[in-house]
Amino acid sequence: MKTPAERAAELHDLLHEHSHRYYVLDDPSVSDAEYDSLFRELQVLESEHPELLTPDSPTQRVGAAPQEGFGTVRHAAPMLSLANAFSQEELGEFDRRVRERLERDDAPVCYVAEPKIDGLAISLRYENGVFVQGATRGDGQSGENVTDNLRTIDMIPLRLRTDDPPAVFEARGEVFMSHQAFRALNESMSAAGKAAFVNPRNAAAGSLRQLDSRKTAQRRLSINLYGLGELQGMEIPATQMQVLQMLQEVGFPVNREIRLCEGIDACFAFYEAILQRRATLGYDIDGVVFKVDSLAEQRELGFVSRAPRWAIAQKFPAEEATTTIDSVEFQVGRTGALTPVARLAPVFVGGVTVSNATLHNMDEIGRKDIRIGDTVVVRRAGDVIPEVARVILDKRRRGARRIKLPRTCPVCGSPVINADDEVKARCTGGLQCAAQRREAIKHFASRRAMDIDGLGDKLVEQLADAGLIETVADLYTLEAAQLQSLPRMGEKSASNLIDAIDASRETTLARFIFALGIRDIGESGAALLAAQFGSLDALMQADEAELTSIDDIGPIAASSIRAFFANPDNRAVVDALLASGIRFPTTDSVHTVSSLAGNTYVLTGTLAAFSRDEAKQRLQRRGAKVSGSVSGKTTAVFAGESPGSKVTRAESLGVPVLDEAALLELIGSPDE
Ligand code: NAD
Repeated sequence: MKTPAERAAELHDLLHEHSHRYYVLDDPSVSDAEYDSLFRELQVLESEHPELLTPDSPTQRVGAAPQEGFGTVRHAAPMLSLANAFSQEELGEFDRRVRERLERDDAPVCYVAEPKIDGLAISLRYENGVFVQGATRGDGQSGENVTDNLRTIDMIPLRLRTDDPPAVFEARGEVFMSHQAFRALNESMSAAGKAAFVNPRNAAAGSLRQLDSRKTAQRRLSINLYGLGELQGMEIPATQMQVLQMLQEVGFPVNREIRLCEGIDACFAFYEAILQRRATLGYDIDGVVFKVDSLAEQRELGFVSRAPRWAIAQKFPAEEATTTIDSVEFQVGRTGALTPVARLAPVFVGGVTVSNATLHNMDEIGRKDIRIGDTVVVRRAGDVIPEVARVILDKRRRGARRIKLPRTCPVCGSPVINADDEVKARCTGGLQCAAQRREAIKHFASRRAMDIDGLGDKLVEQLADAGLIETVADLYTLEAAQLQSLPRMGEKSASNLIDAIDASRETTLARFIFALGIRDIGESGAALLAAQFGSLDALMQADEAELTSIDDIGPIAASSIRAFFANPDNRAVVDALLASGIRFPTTDSVHTVSSLAGNTYVLTGTLAAFSRDEAKQRLQRRGAKVSGSVSGKTTAVFAGESPGSKVTRAESLGVPVLDEAALLELIGSPDE
């Protein structure tokens, strides 16, 4: 059994990875429902063990940091996410909390019910009535500058329709793609021999985030506005309904399904009604957003770290369909984990044809009693990887066969082990296994690891299929001429890739450790190890005691590190990588690293110069510990704009509360 701290660390890594894939790469690998359930699990864990709640927890953050390639826009007012409700009870809970905070007793609250359009949030900025800037939500504090792309959307007015424009007017809303535009786009993609988009949300995100706005112009994107950002030179309306009306008056499209609901029963009725009509709307919605109508009450309610207290998104249940399982195959992941995948008789679910579904692991198969030949319910929630939700036992045929875990790896033939304390069975082949090697290369090249621009998963597959690479070290021996033999690889892209690989030789120790793909070592673990050991040699020589002496490196992670470097195949790859010229010129020098060692800080509120995450990393690089909760052991609390209850707690414990200027003195300003 994992300890709560270990599970929380694991959930951090998983959720960070998933949200990166979802927001930055537009290429999620799990269903939204699965993401939501991991997210929920972490929330529950954190509420039971408040000491596990750190400021960088995915439950405290919105989206993901903006992608390089676009300029960055810092939002004048943060763009938040929404808390979710998954049932009528949870919606009722939300209403109860709102009434309690507003001291309303039994008097009903007026809510505005808005369809939750499944697209991506953007902010449009007008100065003196002229559209000057548009940005994605990004991590809520800053997003990507996609002004040129937004300009190509006809529904966005380039000038506000008013004789008396305010100095600054920011409108917020959702960019999405209608079903009709989505079908037309996919038809033209497949006619051109390109991969189709999996769903309209992905297509909208992919289209809006094109570096070439001529491409965006060819995609028919839509937009609906539902809120305000910064406003100067104009009075703020009194209610959300008035905000929507004003948005409409100055020329923005506003969703026509929006209604005012008095009390929570009316909200639920709205939800039920639109759920029935969902398929006929012509665009994807994944739930309904309920917002307290009065803006004065909204201000009174305020917000928690990532979401306002005055709104909630009630999500629709995932979409389901029935089909049969033809066969089951096992896919091998980067660390050898075997994932059973059902091959299905193709079925249309929530707008796409599905022919594979994940069965997660053997426990799950046992729990759901899934067999080959069974008729099953497949579930998909506007997502990419559908799952088998349950078996329809009434339809089980006599020949239905039990699913057996293979004793040997289907790819390399090495023995498969199924340790008691682990959910997943694993191939023991390590780098002997072609599947593990491929996944390791994908991970190595990915943005948060070695960040090799242009080397995506598909290209890794192609390179491996062509026999050009076997291990990550082979990347550094590739030549442009070899690459040009690949399909759709011109001279220019081949030389770009070689340049990108070359550029990756200069990296940081933390990235390199993360890129090695050591089991149980995520990005933050890698950063800690780099800060603590300062060199790869020191890390490779560290024994378990030295490793576990680092906070946040437990015995499991320590033994994974030892096992990784004890393996001669891995050692050979590491040696080859170093021999090919990988260097860490910006490794934090050991003496700066330890300057704050022994101190524990807590960050709260919004900082002007940094995101809290950046500030945290800078403190950690200097050897400090950054905790999510204030205790008697806290050295000091740094409070930014609108700090939370942590300041009160610090004061009651006599812990010093310092401002951002004091923080900057310790960690330097952003350009240092
Ligand atoms: P969210 O989608 O649950 O809610 C916030 C967003 O709702 C806003 O940012 C806005 O874009 C949108 N929205 C639509 N209509 C709105 C309206 N009328 N008013 C206000 N907002 C409206 O939150 P999120 O933080 O964007 O994303 C979390 C969700 O994304 C998860 O619940 C999950 O389903 C999905 N996700 C999936 C993966 C994955 O790997 N599959 C990864 C990350 C996130």
